Amino acid sequence: MKWRWRFRHQHSQLWADVVNAIHGSSSNEDGIPLKKEITGIWKDLVLARNDLSKAGVTEPEKLGLVNVNGQVLFSVAAFREAIAERIGVKVEVGRFEWIAWAPQKVYFFVWRILNEGIAVKTNLDRRGVFVEDKMCVLCGYSIDSMEHLMFLCPTACAVWWNIWVWIKIPTNVQIVSTMDLLEWLFNLNGSAIWKKVILVISFATLWIIWKTRNERIFDGKQSRVEVMVDKTKEESFQWIKYRSPYVSLDWERWRDFNVRDIII
Ligand SMILES: [Zn+2]
Repeated sequence: MKWRWRFRHQHSQLWADVVNAIHGSSSNEDGIPLKKEITGIWKDLVLARNDLSKAGVTEPEKLGLVNVNGQVLFSVAAFREAIAERIGVKVEVGRFEWIAWAPQKVYFFVWRILNEGIAVKTNLDRRGVFVEDKMCVLCGYSIDSMEHLMFLCPTACAVWWNIWVWIKIPTNVQIVSTMDLLEWLFNLNGSAIWKKVILVISFATLWIIWKTRNERIFDGKQSRVEVMVDKTKEESFQWIKYRSPYVSLDWERWRDFNVRDIII
């Protein structure tokens, strides 16, 4: 949203020229250029607005505007706070800080799962989109619903089990929905930093399951559980190393989840 706002109000800057050069020839309805076939952060940012408007948040750019000494600026912190407040009632994630350790697109992704806005086959079906094969592509045994894909699918269960073992959490947790997952995380005993780390890892797990499913549908690519688990470890490592204060995080120690120096 910050970039959308800046795009409108700071046209002359070089980065705005770059966005125009890449996406310029096809503006969407509100004047922000977007070529849908070019994926990447700009597309994620532009499309995030659509998700927000579905949740009843209109003109989201305005939520982040603050007045600093007479100058109107966009504040990411103010934006997060306002969004958390608005959607918090609906999805109850307001209790979790909108920490910036996972990329914003991942937060929106989780938020969309909570609001059932993700295009799994059962959701498409409900919206009247014809889906010939409604089965889960990871196991082929059950209908492709969000709960199934993320928590009940044997592949997802195996991924989560490996993640719990990795982060040294008892593996008898019964989680059947993203809301359950958030509730459970919220009620865990542990330091705030440790909870944040677990939250980021959980988000990375959801993200990798989703990406794996899409790669199978759209690219025909198969990924084994071990590969999904490794990707989750890598992705969460990158997020925390480059987006948290813990820049000295070491990969070898992360792989063993030997992170006492950062989580105590
Ligand atoms: Zn399945």
